Amino acid sequence: METQVLPGIGPTLAERLAARGLETLEDLAWFVPRGYDDLRDAVRLAAAEPGPRVTLVATVTRARYTRFRRRYLEVGLEDGGARATVRWFNVHPSMASRFARGARVILSGALRHRDGAFEMANPDLLGDADDEATSARLTLRPRYGEVEGVAPAIVRKAARTALERVAPRLQDGVPPDIAARLALPPLAEALRGLHDPPADLDDAETRALRDGDSPWHRRLAFDDLFFLALAVLRRRHERRRLAAPPCAAPAALADARAVLPFALTGAQERAAAAIVGDLAGERPMNRLLQGDVGAGKTAVAFVAAHAALAAGRQVALMAPTEILAEQHLRSIEPWARALGHRAALLTASTPRGVRETTLAMLAAGATGLCIGTHALLAERVGFADLGLCIIDEQHRFGVAQRVRLRGKGDGAPHLLVMTATPIPRTMALTIYGDLDVTTLDELPPGRTPPRTRICHGARGRAQIVGFLKRKLAEGARAFVVCPLVEPSYEPGVDWADATTTADHLAEALAPFRVGLVHGRVPAAERDAEMARLRRGDIDVLVATTVIEVGVDVPEATVMVVLDADRFGLAQLHQLRGRVGRGGGEAFCLLHTRASQGSERLAILADTCDGFRIAEADLALRGPGEVLGVRQAGLPKLRFGDLLAHGELLREARREAEALLAADPALAAHPATHNVLLERAPPYAGDGG
Ligand code: ADP
Ligand code: MG
Repeated sequence: METQVLPGIGPTLAERLAARGLETLEDLAWFVPRGYDDLRDAVRLAAAEPGPRVTLVATVTRARYTRFRRRYLEVGLEDGGARATVRWFNVHPSMASRFARGARVILSGALRHRDGAFEMANPDLLGDADDEATSARLTLRPRYGEVEGVAPAIVRKAARTALERVAPRLQDGVPPDIAARLALPPLAEALRGLHDPPADLDDAETRALRDGDSPWHRRLAFDDLFFLALAVLRRRHERRRLAAPPCAAPAALADARAVLPFALTGAQERAAAAIVGDLAGERPMNRLLQGDVGAGKTAVAFVAAHAALAAGRQVALMAPTEILAEQHLRSIEPWARALGHRAALLTASTPRGVRETTLAMLAAGATGLCIGTHALLAERVGFADLGLCIIDEQHRFGVAQRVRLRGKGDGAPHLLVMTATPIPRTMALTIYGDLDVTTLDELPPGRTPPRTRICHGARGRAQIVGFLKRKLAEGARAFVVCPLVEPSYEPGVDWADATTTADHLAEALAPFRVGLVHGRVPAAERDAEMARLRRGDIDVLVATTVIEVGVDVPEATVMVVLDADRFGLAQLHQLRGRVGRGGGEAFCLLHTRASQGSERLAILADTCDGFRIAEADLALRGPGEVLGVRQAGLPKLRFGDLLAHGELLREARREAEALLAADPALAAHPATHNVLLERAPPYAGDGG
């Protein structure tokens, strides 16, 4: 282990560092502090007041490790007549050796006063006030993420020394002219500033450092965002060199209008026209269609599919669930048939015989449109002439799956990805930077945003039952969504599962009829149950999130979500989007066990704007999780934050574009080229 070359790091410590992912000197140099303790806040124990976070200086009078009953280290402190007893629990006995009698130490933690003496439990040991570095400049002290079994002071020193050693050979991938233009320090300087902040920072600089907003922090954030932008742009550049299967069908939109049962909205028209235009081009289309739940993405996908089919190519439409794939088939097939196309369904539950026929027809080019799930990705699925891939709810798939589906065509089939989880534009440009983004910013006419109410605790449940009774009596149909399929044996978690809830509601709502669907119900039965709700053979459908994506029962007007706290905001918004599609009033009741307000759920009660909700969700959960950046094959963001660094992100993208325009192969920027290769190896065969 390379870190053993550092003074004070032997095999054991090196092992422990490695366990934390710190294997090389570079790893350590990049292991930047989580925060900073301001030692200038330190007061002498004699002058200290009790408080939750006190930093104090005092002299060690004794240190003793006790094994009696509880194991702990007890240290006595004295300063100007004031005494304190400090205890550390669950520490290694060797820690006692750090408290030589007479040493001046600096501690930070909660200080209590009891029986004329001070007490502290498990405070942070910030240092030794006799230590030359500490006492010379009682200043900002970096605080690192915990490394199990390695004392903070050792981590601190190791990081600092590691940086000194590697600084001369650090690859600084941001070209100096760009750094200069944005007033960002060089990489080595940024890391040094973070590991070993200078003693002469003024108040504003100190605050910036403690808030993670220093020029050094910004330099690292920029680094991340810049390479993310480069990786995305390079991908786009590579794609543009590929030739697309020609899919020119100038009449496609007019044809589609003739068979669709409704007039397209303005937004649908614009999106469809852009897509038909792309398909006629010589470069593969790479387009993201984002539109709120119910915005009508399916009809746009149909126009796209028809254009490719009319041009004599085949189309694959992939959806994340069977229910959704089946529903797409149900909507699209009649329209496609009216225009003379043959459509087939391919999912894991497609019966063997049917599957064989479908596969043969696809391979022969006799079936033009294949709608399916992940089953489409199977080795055996082959197309004669795949011209267009459409992926619905694309955030549910990884880039590898996208690439795989596209790989079923010769060359680079056109790609349309769709999502109902919109993200802010700059972010979309970066994450999906190789995609052109179209937004359906208009809902079909006759939609009423569901009135949303949050119901609390046991009283909330009674309210929900009462509400359902009333609405059902008026002829309404309702969904009730639960987070779990079966009862959980956690105490107090009753009513969270679909099975119990269905039983319970069947009784409470009699004579109204209650159905049940969840992931373990076979697809055919799920479908039958859904159809029953559509026909009014049942009044309430209790479900898990199998109904989350895309399920379309226009007759349903009430959506109840139990234990709504367990769902993401975007997910709840999707669920809510299941109702209110048929015109007329719609309602959404979100139940929480909490007895009072939840800030998170309140956002939903406040707005039906998918963009605002998505932004709030991003702010609450972090972009990585929401966007699946991790699975997108892009460089990891270690310091950059797509949300917090909006401005920096724009600059990073601008600079990356300018750089690639001037030097597409990065031939004149070897350091940038190397860092890019290291952080985002080219994805073999990745067309996007
Ligand atoms: P999503 O964007 O969530 O996938 P869908 O494509 O499922 O939305 O459309 C939601 C509902 O709206 C469907 O019932 C569909 O038939 C209907 N719809 C779509 N476009 C229009 C339109 N222009 N006018 C009226 N209804 C429409
Ligand atoms: Mg949809």
